[in-house]
Amino acid sequence: MTRRPSWMASLPMQPVSGAAAGGRPKGLRPGARSGAVDRRGPARTADIAPLPPSGLGLASERARARMVETLVQGGLRDSQVLDAMLQVPRHQFVEAALASRAYEDVALPIGHGQTISKPSTVARMIELAMAHLPAAQRAGSQALEVGTGCGYQAAVMARVFGQVISIERVRGLHEQARGNLRSLRLTNLRLAFGDGHRGVPQGAPYDAILVAAAGDTVPDALLEQMRVGGRLVAPIADGARQSLHLVERVAADEWQSTILDAVRFVPMRTGTI
Ligand code: SAH
Repeated sequence: MTRRPSWMASLPMQPVSGAAAGGRPKGLRPGARSGAVDRRGPARTADIAPLPPSGLGLASERARARMVETLVQGGLRDSQVLDAMLQVPRHQFVEAALASRAYEDVALPIGHGQTISKPSTVARMIELAMAHLPAAQRAGSQALEVGTGCGYQAAVMARVFGQVISIERVRGLHEQARGNLRSLRLTNLRLAFGDGHRGVPQGAPYDAILVAAAGDTVPDALLEQMRVGGRLVAPIADGARQSLHLVERVAADEWQSTILDAVRFVPMRTGTI
């Protein structure tokens, strides 16, 4: 960990024993399906021609502003989430050939058979996961993402939560995300490599957990790593159908689950590759 840049460290995974994680919490009813690179060096001002008003930076800012307008029309309200979506350069998280489509509301391939989530889905999940946090508590909040992928959602989360950990099971994507995120210098975001079924106990308890891949159920370790009063948002598969579940930990031994929108995510897999 010490050899890595301080802004992003790879967390070693510690196994969560079955006994420690406990059985399925009783409260959760199983049936309740309830950039632009700044190339201006330290040259003297007289040597520098003014930047044209339409560089890649400005073009992508405009595209992001249009994307956020669409999100607002779609019902997104949280000003901090909107601001984060305006700031994070999504085109830096997809390969160059797809960059022109980066601000469309679509999932795009990121390699390894995975996809970058749709902007509207990212915004919706983050808004749901933090709706219980008053503005004053957001800076001190702790959040976990399962399924880093290319790192886009992690970057948006790092702009709204106090501390963020994101875990990915595919080594190639974990490294890709590290590269994509480097220039953003998000000092409050750490990337972990491992199977997210176990969560990341080192960072628990979490005020918010976002799962970016669909499983049949919410893993017990994730339920246990929620803070009492915290929220988890995850796509849950029921046969071929998937729906977004919002889980609230209302007491130490009680979780409440609400089923929300129909969604489409890549499957949550076991182990690492
Ligand atoms: N968060 C990404 C979406 C990535 S797609 C974004 O910002 O767009 C979902 C990711 O979940 C994939 O990269 C996949 O490899 C990962 N994944 C699937 N099962 C996992 C598991 N058990 N633990 C950690 N990551 C997992």
